[in-house]
Amino acid sequence: MLIIPEALIADLVTPEDAFAAVEATFAAMARGEACNFPVVREALGEGRQYGFKSGLDRAGRTLGLKAGGYFPGNAAKGIANHQSTVCLFDPETGRPTAMVGGNLLTALRTAAASAISIDRLARQDAKVLGMVGAGHQAAFQLRAAARVRRFEKVVAWNLHPEMLPRLGAVAAELGLPFEAVSLDRLGAEADVIVTITSSPAAALLDAHVRPGTHLACMGTDTKGKQEVEPALLARARLFTDEVAQSVSIGETQHAIAAGLIAAADITPLGAVIAGLAEGRRSDREITLFDGTGVGLQDLAVAQAAVSRAVERGIARKVEI
Ligand code: NAD
Repeated sequence: MLIIPEALIADLVTPEDAFAAVEATFAAMARGEACNFPVVREALGEGRQYGFKSGLDRAGRTLGLKAGGYFPGNAAKGIANHQSTVCLFDPETGRPTAMVGGNLLTALRTAAASAISIDRLARQDAKVLGMVGAGHQAAFQLRAAARVRRFEKVVAWNLHPEMLPRLGAVAAELGLPFEAVSLDRLGAEADVIVTITSSPAAALLDAHVRPGTHLACMGTDTKGKQEVEPALLARARLFTDEVAQSVSIGETQHAIAAGLIAAADITPLGAVIAGLAEGRRSDREITLFDGTGVGLQDLAVAQAAVSRAVERGIARKVEI
C-alpha cells in the first residue's frame, strides 16, 4: 500500500488536475459507470462530526472512501478543525492500495466542482463574482472561479465581516478589485454567486438575486444547514453533483420539504458534461448548482495524487 502524506499533496495535485478529475467523475456518474454509496455521518458529541463518503468508479477503476469530519477543538491544538483521509482499494481484489491525506484535496475538489458549474452554467459574459462566506474554503472557491471566467470585480458578504479582509487579499493576489457589500448590493451586481458558509438558516434571499445569475451553493453538506431561501430554488433551474445527496443533505432539502420542488426538477451536472442534458438555456435564466460533495470526487483527486507520486517515485510503500 502507498502512503501519500498531507504535506506532499500541494506539490502533487494542481487546481487544474482537480478540475479535470472531478469533471471526468461527474460525467462517469451520469453515464452510470460510477456510483456513490450512501453517506454515513454521525455526531460524536461536543460539536464533533465524523463520517464516510465512498463509491466505485468502474471506468476510472477506483474504489474507496474518505473518512473525516469536523473537530472544533483542533484549532486550539494548532491543527485544522476539518480532518480527512482517503483510502483507496483495488476494485478487483479489495486489497488496500493507498492512504492519502485528504484535507487539501477536499478544498481542491470542492472548489473544482463549483468552478465546473460556473464553467458549464454561468453566462459567458459574467463580470462580477459575488462571494457569500469568507472561511477556509472561500479562498479556494474564489481562486477556482477566477480560472473559468474573466471576472473584473469581486463583491463579498460574510456574517462575520472581520473575516473578509483575508478573502480580499486573495482577490488582490488575482488582481481583482474587492469590495465588502450588503447582500442587496451583492445580488444586484453579481453575475455569479458562490455561497460557502456553515449557515443554519438562509442568508441570501430570492429577492436579492437577479435574472441571469448563476449560483454555486457549496456550504450545505449536511441536514439542517441552509444558505439560500427555498423560493430562489423554485425560481431557478437546478443542478447538482448527486440528486440523492442534494435532496437529503444538500441545499435543495429545504425546498423539497416545503413542497416547492421535486427531485425530478434537479439535473446532475454530469449529465450536462456528458451531453445528456441541457445547461443554461437563456441569458435570463437563473441556474443554481447544489454542490453537496460526493465520495467519488475525493477518490478521483486522491487517485490523481497517487498517480503523480508514483510517476515521481516519491510514494512511500508499506506492506499491510
Ligand atoms: P470555516 O469554518 O472556515 O468558515 C465558515 C464560514 O461560515 C465563514 O464564512 C463563517 O463566517 C460562516 N458562518 C459560520 N457560522 C455562520 C452562521 N451561523 N450563519 C452564517 N454564516 C456562518 O468553514 P469552511 O471550511 O470554509 O466550510 C464552509 C462550509 O462548506 C461548511 O459548511 C462545510 O461543511 C462546507 N463544505 C462543503 C463541501 C462540499 O463539498 N459541498 C466541502 C467542504 C466544506
